[in-house]
Amino acid sequence: MCGIIGYIGKEKAVPIMMDGLAKLSYRGYDSSGIAILDDKQLKILKKKGKVGRLKKEVNKSKLESCIGIAHTRWATHGEPSDNNAHPHMDCNRKIAIVHNGIIENYMHLKKHLQDKGHKFVSQTDTEVLAHLIEDHYRGDIEQAVREAGGRLIGAFAVVVICKEDKERLIVARKDCPLIIGLGRQGNFIASDIPVLLSHTKKFIILENSEMASVWANEVKVCDFDGEVIKKEPQEINWEWGEVEKEGYEHFMLKEIHEQPRTIRDTLRDRLQKDGRVILKDIKLSDKYIEKLKRIYIVACGTAYHAAMIGEHIFEDLLRIPVEVDMASEFRYRDPILDEHTLVIAISQSGETADTLASVKEARAKGAVVIAITNVVNSSIVRESNYTLYTRAGAEIAVASTKAFTAQLIVLFLIALRFSQHAGRIAGGVMTEIAKYLNDLPAQVQTVLDEVDDIKEICQCLAEKIKDDEFNWFKYNSCFFIGRGLDAPIAKEGALKLKEISYIHADAYPAGELKHGNIALITKNTPVVALVTQDKVR
Ligand code: GLU
Repeated sequence: MCGIIGYIGKEKAVPIMMDGLAKLSYRGYDSSGIAILDDKQLKILKKKGKVGRLKKEVNKSKLESCIGIAHTRWATHGEPSDNNAHPHMDCNRKIAIVHNGIIENYMHLKKHLQDKGHKFVSQTDTEVLAHLIEDHYRGDIEQAVREAGGRLIGAFAVVVICKEDKERLIVARKDCPLIIGLGRQGNFIASDIPVLLSHTKKFIILENSEMASVWANEVKVCDFDGEVIKKEPQEINWEWGEVEKEGYEHFMLKEIHEQPRTIRDTLRDRLQKDGRVILKDIKLSDKYIEKLKRIYIVACGTAYHAAMIGEHIFEDLLRIPVEVDMASEFRYRDPILDEHTLVIAISQSGETADTLASVKEARAKGAVVIAITNVVNSSIVRESNYTLYTRAGAEIAVASTKAFTAQLIVLFLIALRFSQHAGRIAGGVMTEIAKYLNDLPAQVQTVLDEVDDIKEICQCLAEKIKDDEFNWFKYNSCFFIGRGLDAPIAKEGALKLKEISYIHADAYPAGELKHGNIALITKNTPVVALVTQDKVR
């Protein structure tokens, strides 16, 4: 997820955009950039790191204009760097764009454009779009964006500025949000409403596959065939402070609700309808997979629970022994590893010290390491042989939620990819699994739609008995139980409860409960039983 802001009007665009970038920071960023049009040319400044670094450059350079676009990037293609930061330009530096999303067919388009002589300066998928627009440009920038947009596969929200058309900005969207704010002195564009609330309460919300020309005092919305769409502006009566979390009470809740999208993004362009998995970033030969003797999955905390589920998935699909290890233990023992051992290391941030140390240990002993992480170019990426990214967007809440489910998806994809190479899985089974995975976002949504029922059930746990610092709740301990795939999920549930409510919680494989632990269960111990596995019901 990234942030987009644009302005065209009578006011100074730079302070509006810099303020917008700061407000958009909660969406996560690894770099940021700004493009403005002055009388003579398109001027661009981009900086890796915090928005403050860009601000310093902007202040030094005294940029001034009434039209501009800006972006906070959360990298998906190409490391976070000054060069890969947005805006991106065409060869002739006539067109600049900012983009949120993933262009799935960028490699194909890039090759095609390179063959036609276009020169690329970044590793991003986004730059392809800048050149593609240039390729279609015959003096009408809106038409060029329309034609280029029609050739994209994937998700995008894009804002385009063109030196030869100083009067308007062009915007387009598919599967990524983009809104237009209507002001008295000019018009605004942003990836979400909150960031514009200090400027206007009047918005045009772009729907999927819509694009628009935005002038200082006029907006024309149309579809990708050029058909004009009449849209009524909406009045929004929120305040900035209230909605920076998009209306959710806190970031954790917001991130829980993002899961249908993050699961879909993590599957995007990796899983075919027939179950075949394409993981371009893993270049392991069939021979390597055939000779594989053992897999270790190492991780900490929530990622460790994802690893435990990974064990079930790999052993079921691949029939290779899997060992799951806490990274903090793995690094201090002497694990048996060689070139026939694969280590999968999971870390949301890619910076977890114990997991990094485990990766180094495994590499030193000759094992191949695949990292699963959410942060592009984090340390784990550099230390591992291969990386698969979860595309969960920035996870701001400390208690991990959407990154966990995205990690499960990636584990599933690796297991499927390996088993199809090893010929250990029938075509019919593959198609069936693909169907389940593709249905998952909708199923998660169904559960999220029932959140009020869950809330009601939780109310009894949250009941306070007295305002005593150490004895807050009616129940001060809670058990989670489950078998099979539900056992690690029970552990994750217990961890979440401890981490965010300070209520003691513990989890057990349900069958294990009778061997002693049951002694702790009284009538005042709520037990959450996960029963999703028919064979152990
Ligand atoms: N895919 C683009 C990139 O990696 C955009 C990422 C974003 O949404 O910030 O540059």
